[in-house]
Amino acid sequence: MSSLLLYNIGSLASPRSENAPRLSGVAMSNIYTEQNVAILVENGIITRIGASADLEKEAIVAERFDAKGMTALPGFVDSHTHTVFGGNRANEFAMRSAGKTYQEIAAAGGGILSTMNATRKASHEELYAIGKKRLDAMLRHGTTTVEIKSGYGLDTASELKILEVIHELSRTHPMTIVPTFLGAHAFPPEYKNDREGYVQLVCNEMLPVVKERNLAVFCDIFCEQNYFSLEHSERILRTAQELGFKLKLHADQLSASGASALGVRLGAVSVDHLECTTSEGVEIIAASETIATGLPGASLFLNHPYPPLRALIDVGGTVALATDFNPGSSVTFSMPMMMTLASTQMRMTPEEALTASTLNGAAALSLAHERGSLELGKQADILLCDIAHFYELSYHFGMNHIVHVIKHGKVVV
Ligand SMILES: [Zn+2]
Repeated sequence: MSSLLLYNIGSLASPRSENAPRLSGVAMSNIYTEQNVAILVENGIITRIGASADLEKEAIVAERFDAKGMTALPGFVDSHTHTVFGGNRANEFAMRSAGKTYQEIAAAGGGILSTMNATRKASHEELYAIGKKRLDAMLRHGTTTVEIKSGYGLDTASELKILEVIHELSRTHPMTIVPTFLGAHAFPPEYKNDREGYVQLVCNEMLPVVKERNLAVFCDIFCEQNYFSLEHSERILRTAQELGFKLKLHADQLSASGASALGVRLGAVSVDHLECTTSEGVEIIAASETIATGLPGASLFLNHPYPPLRALIDVGGTVALATDFNPGSSVTFSMPMMMTLASTQMRMTPEEALTASTLNGAAALSLAHERGSLELGKQADILLCDIAHFYELSYHFGMNHIVHVIKHGKVVV
């Protein structure tokens, strides 16, 4: 049996879920803090949390690690990213800063399609090397579980290539990775004038082969004007559901399309973005089991409105935060930065932001039973931060306070 005693922790902060599958509304503030504690980890699982002085005397362990008075937090769960793609779009960043809109850049051949071209050209080995480098950086910034979507291939072979890279990363990298199929991210140029044909390709060819090879847990879709209509979205998502995929949606990002209500109606695990969700939409989401995932990095980067996460929490909704890491609209690995934006731009308290970035992120991946908080029986995904109180993580923004990362009971950073 492998065992680790993490001792001399100055302060510990974590959501207290008591095996609840998520924390909603006022319960999102349910953070417990303790001082001068130690955590005992056996076979990667947290088996004891107690006074450091006691555990240092009592515990018989293979390995001891001195936390040197640092603050311990659960590892972040980044439940919405597009981590595996070729190229970058720094040139478009310059165009946008000179006044062009996201839609204008997309119409000029930029946007998702420029990344599609770079991704189609890249080999499996090249995408793997890029993906590994990005995951290493995420881990250094405290993310221990990540969801990764396909969606920059937009033909069957290229979508499978991306999902196979994600699969290989999940076997070789310490990070826990949840794969999502996002073949319906945009219409590829080959189907520019045959949208129906592409929807059929996704439903009749891509989804069945992704399922047969067991390459994705979730199916996601970009439901938006000029992308996938409500009708196309419903057809694709229903096909996915029948095949056994869980559902996510890019919903209400650029317009109040009704995508979030569609997600609720189909029993999606999460609806993500929500920048344009109306007050009626807020009520519909909050009254459901569907998790509302805010992606404030995209609002910051595109200078768009922020999603109504305060309103969602106030009416009892379940809110998660994620980076949406992607080359066009949110080029960041930093979950603490999302927490800063949550508190400064959306009036979420640091307690709510911590729950949204850990336990509720895990819930958005159907993993809250095993990770997302520092509680007995959970996976030992633990951050040690060079701060005296967890508030400082989002208060002192724009830098990395994470010194060590423990993943499944092993020190990996
Ligand atoms: Zn996204």
